[in-house]
Amino acid sequence: MNPELAEIISRAQSLYEDVDYKGVGAWKSAAPGRKAIGYMPTYVPRETIWAGGMLPVGVLGGGDRLEIIRGDAYFQSYICHIPRSTVELALSGRLDVLDGMLFPSICDVIRNLSGMWTMLFPGRYVRYVDLPQNYDPRVGGEFWRRELIAIRDDMARLAGRQISDDDLRSSIRIYNQNRRAIRELYLARSESPWLHPIAQVYVVLRAGAVLPPEEHTAMVRRYLELASQESSRPEDRSRVVLAGMFCEQPPLGLLITLERAGCWIVDDDLLLGLRWFTGDVPEEGDPIENLAQAYLTQSVSTASRYEPDGHRGRWLTESVRHHRADGVIFCAPSFCDPALLEQPMLVAALERERIPYTQFKYSEDTGQFAVIREQAGTFSDSIRLWSEV
Ligand code: SF4
Repeated sequence: MNPELAEIISRAQSLYEDVDYKGVGAWKSAAPGRKAIGYMPTYVPRETIWAGGMLPVGVLGGGDRLEIIRGDAYFQSYICHIPRSTVELALSGRLDVLDGMLFPSICDVIRNLSGMWTMLFPGRYVRYVDLPQNYDPRVGGEFWRRELIAIRDDMARLAGRQISDDDLRSSIRIYNQNRRAIRELYLARSESPWLHPIAQVYVVLRAGAVLPPEEHTAMVRRYLELASQESSRPEDRSRVVLAGMFCEQPPLGLLITLERAGCWIVDDDLLLGLRWFTGDVPEEGDPIENLAQAYLTQSVSTASRYEPDGHRGRWLTESVRHHRADGVIFCAPSFCDPALLEQPMLVAALERERIPYTQFKYSEDTGQFAVIREQAGTFSDSIRLWSEV
């Protein structure tokens, strides 16, 4: 492997493993007065944070790299794992580096966590980001425009300076570039997954949760340039789309297991908050209005977002077609209401089009992959056999 490529992957991997947020601490220490604002999955308007010169930091749980000592005591047993590890991260002081936290309205768990945060950490800035579920521009659009103004004003207070429209426009431009680079990453992976294995793509993408956006864009672009020059050969594997992982992230070992079981992952819904808009947000004109409109008209399709009847599952069947996938693997966190309640609608959409699928659940700290490897391997073999019949 090209040594520079190995270095990029190693840097991204160490950011992935950095449950102490040392990288964020280093960024803050590099200049006086720097601040960092954390956010839970999936979408928050990071542009408003960066426009104030502060670093948006994705808090994506502790994965399989954190021992839960106190976090379990705050929750009943039958909910997902990410709130436990997030509370553990906070109670152990690892999130002290953050100057505030945003909790988007993705599900009851995260909503309740925002309330717990205000009780556990009085005096720290917390905001529940109430995303619109009505997509009429005069109703949900107007509501979200006002929320965006309130968030911008909060960010200005935290930053200790005004955030002008020019600051916001510049931030939108920077995030457009970042999302464009990520779209290129996904396209390249779909075209030649053997050159862009999931172990690399995932950590390079995930670095965007903690790096300044311009630095992340440069990392993705350089990775793409160097990875395309590698000499790995195509292998005969099934092409699959993964669905259900937009919030609590699976352990990296699980994703690698799927590839080892004979699958190429050609599309997924991992880390959706980093690539929420399907196109560029307009860079001229009223930036708040542009962000509000983009949310209404250019958001990705996912379980936590309202969609009119008949639209559920369309993204998945389109993704299968677009990426020439052989099948779908539903891979969702245990007890994740949004992912698991949406799944029957997605299954119905696949069955209408006779697209094969399989499903299993995980927890971010799942450590045993043997059963998943068998299941994914059998699925991969069978869809290759069907496609030859
Ligand atoms: S994994 Fe699912 S249920 Fe748990 S916090 Fe995330 S969206 Fe909510």
